[in-house]
Amino acid sequence: MPHDESLSYLEKEYGPQTFTEDAEEGKITVTGECPRCKGETSKTFRVGQPGIDKAAWAGKPATMICACGATHDRPGDSDEAGCGAYWTVMLQGG
Ligand SMILES: [Zn+2]
Ligand SMILES: [Zn+2]
Repeated sequence: MPHDESLSYLEKEYGPQTFTEDAEEGKITVTGECPRCKGETSKTFRVGQPGIDKAAWAGKPATMICACGATHDRPGDSDEAGCGAYWTVMLQGG
């Protein structure tokens, strides 16, 4: 499905998604399609970030929020970069 940039911003929780993982030394980057607007979004988790332990990435749910880059009629004071959808991704670990 194409990225629906006409959707208005809405904070909404979605169920767990399956995203692509790219693990490197000290960080892990998760990339995939937002379940709401279908825009591509990615997030990098670094070692030491709360809830993400280097030795225990596998099986850990990581929370992502859409950062597709479209405006989605966001309020001007919002520091988000997407449509407002958020969800969890189960990390596989490096
Ligand atoms: Zn989105
Ligand atoms: Zn979007």
